[in-house]
Amino acid sequence: MVNGFQLLLVLIPLFGSFSQSQCFIEDGYKRYNDYSVLRFIPTNVEQLKFLYDLAHNETFLMERGVDFWTAPGNLNASVDVMLSPEARSSLAPLFKSNLLNPSVMIDDVQRRIDAENEIKGRQSFPFPFGLRGSRPNTKLFFNTYQRYDTIMAMLDDMAKSNDKLRLSVEVIGKSFEGRDLKIIKISNGASNGKRKIWIDAGLHAREWIGPSTAMYFINKLVTSAGKDEAVDQILNKYDIVILPLANPDGYEYTHTTNRMWRKTRSQTNSRWGYICRGTDPNRNWSYKWGTGGSSSNACSDIFAGPKPFSEPETKAMSQYILKNGPWDMYISFHSYSQLILLPWGWTTDLPEHYNEMYRVAEKAATNLKSLYGTTFTVGSATNLLYVASGGSDDWAYGEAGIKYSYTFELRDTGDHGFVLPEEFIKPTGEETFLAFKTMCDEIYQTS
Ligand SMILES: [Zn+2]
Repeated sequence: MVNGFQLLLVLIPLFGSFSQSQCFIEDGYKRYNDYSVLRFIPTNVEQLKFLYDLAHNETFLMERGVDFWTAPGNLNASVDVMLSPEARSSLAPLFKSNLLNPSVMIDDVQRRIDAENEIKGRQSFPFPFGLRGSRPNTKLFFNTYQRYDTIMAMLDDMAKSNDKLRLSVEVIGKSFEGRDLKIIKISNGASNGKRKIWIDAGLHAREWIGPSTAMYFINKLVTSAGKDEAVDQILNKYDIVILPLANPDGYEYTHTTNRMWRKTRSQTNSRWGYICRGTDPNRNWSYKWGTGGSSSNACSDIFAGPKPFSEPETKAMSQYILKNGPWDMYISFHSYSQLILLPWGWTTDLPEHYNEMYRVAEKAATNLKSLYGTTFTVGSATNLLYVASGGSDDWAYGEAGIKYSYTFELRDTGDHGFVLPEEFIKPTGEETFLAFKTMCDEIYQTS
């Protein structure tokens, strides 16, 4: 078997400048013409090692325009990789010599992005609610992926739209570029000292279905309270705090400049003297920070940051969560892969409450499936995916002491990946809300 890593080391000097690097795309709009997404399924250790070495050869990835949409972890688990046309042809011999026969998931990423932009152009406008202060027009809102301004305005409108509920918005901090980290607190005011649930979304910028799903939750809770028994049952038990846009800088950047941006937009000097933007905000939390599955290279997509909570976004979130606890449940929305992930992410060991967390998540996944047949797999992050330290769910469980701590990897399983078409916004919201309702019922009974 050819040692892929050694071959790669030989190949690297043959390649040219850093022209493909995301780090250096600062002006204009990054295009992904003829970029493809290939799916690999490593069936032996050599193949897995080849993919692992490639995924960790950060300089190579940057130079050649290679982006692991899902990272290698376990044997027989799929690994989706976006490749520039040049990278695809130059790596083809290595794939072949490692007996890897990838299937093509997406043959032209830019074409998918163009289709998305076309719908966005038709559907979004600065004030989707008509006159300011009028009833939020949620019908239009969920037709497309909305921008930061619209989401912030929608939160404000939502907070005023149901006077039977106790609703308030609060800015818990500012992003690196000064955008609001805005939460909405949803309570039916039934009693003081009610138990609480935290939900956040959009830590990873390009995972647009996360913020959409969080907004779907907010809309559902606010507009259906008093009319929908399922919603009332949730709000009779819990007060819910939702941060729908945890990384607004990155999110806006994916709309204006680079659809595939993942990180925050902070600046760190790299070890080579140039500046790379962004930290992975799901590798930046303090619990077991930097102990594996993250990078100390500022240009890496899984850069853990120069120190724990170096990012104003994760810092503000963690401070709010610690100050306003206790919480019964922590949920973070990501995409994609259709998984409900449990701690730990930093080790293959299982946490003390794993079996109970698993039981609840399995029940949620079963009910989720009953709506549209969407299958979610449940398990610990490390055992289903790979080691990744500094994640928010590990921190929520290990540091903040939240017994039920979950990360949802929402739709799909790779047909569209991060560029999930708009028509999936509503069904994803509906089915995920059903899972959430199940979780609320289950944990209320047992805690
Ligand atoms: Zn993510």
